Amino acid sequence: MVIDASDVRRRYGETVALDGVSFAVDAGEIFSLIGPNGAGKTTLIRALFGTTDAEGDISVFGRPPTEVERGRVGLLPQEFTPADRLTAQELIAYYAGLYDDARDPEAVLADVGLADSAGTFYENLSGGQKRRACVGSTLVNDPELLVLDEPTTGIDPTGRRELWRLIEGLADGGTTVLLTTHYMDEAEELADRVGLLADGKLVALGSPAELVERHGGDSRVVIEADDDRAGEDALRKAGYAPIDTGRHVSVPADATEIPAIVERLSEAGIGYEGVAWRQPSLDDAYATLTGTGAHGGLEDGGETPPEATTTDAAPEGRA
Ligand code: ADP
Repeated sequence: MVIDASDVRRRYGETVALDGVSFAVDAGEIFSLIGPNGAGKTTLIRALFGTTDAEGDISVFGRPPTEVERGRVGLLPQEFTPADRLTAQELIAYYAGLYDDARDPEAVLADVGLADSAGTFYENLSGGQKRRACVGSTLVNDPELLVLDEPTTGIDPTGRRELWRLIEGLADGGTTVLLTTHYMDEAEELADRVGLLADGKLVALGSPAELVERHGGDSRVVIEADDDRAGEDALRKAGYAPIDTGRHVSVPADATEIPAIVERLSEAGIGYEGVAWRQPSLDDAYATLTGTGAHGGLEDGGETPPEATTTDAAPEGRA
């Protein structure tokens, strides 16, 4: 076991940031902490690595946080901006210089896919390359545990995928990864297990598939009707109970029910832009567990990254 945390508590004055959190992370696992802003994710990471005090029992590699050999852990904080006028190679070499037995910077650059950009200034790298360079700076000490706080926030979809492949490759090589994210598709894609934090409590813990099974709800048919109100009424009259309304109306149903649904709409004289079938996703489980309401729509129910402009951002959730 790499991380073992039991009943972790932390207050800031009146604010309860962590309210009795217990979980463990096994060697070689990718464990993702998810949760809304203010849920306590950063505080938990800080408690695990001894940069903030907390009550409870925490051990990392069998030791209290402040006694863990720093070389065994790589930590990439959310806010990490290296100097613009360092080349990728200089950035990695700079961090390698902090360790007596650091890895060869060239090998680290190759691992993060930047061998060809070694001489490029950090400011001239793409968003995804920048982030990979930052991950590279955490790999110089060949960490057994890598902690990534929101690693893909603000990165375009191509860059995110490259980072996912990098993280998977590290885990395949035996690195234990703890990552926070607020992209549910990221947790679903990468994590062996997910812990959902809300208001300082771990409200769900399991594999993405388990959480979807337990909390994701039913599969649904999603209809984008020309007149959403009339579409919703027609579906209600036909005995369906819409779970999501508005521009896209969702009803719990199997794909086999699509013809019957389409027929009901035709009978009621309602045109539609599209009909799709969607299986529940981690996003639905998250919405149920955090009470943020069900997502719907023909597009991916997940939050789209801010810089997502290319076409591969949207259709993923389509079933
Ligand atoms: P997350 O990373 O999930 O967004 P945080 O761990 O940053 O959550 O915050 C959890 C709660 O603790 C929030 O209510 C936040 O305002 C509060 N908090 C975090 N850090 C501090 C701090 N240094 N001083 C006071 N309150 C804090």
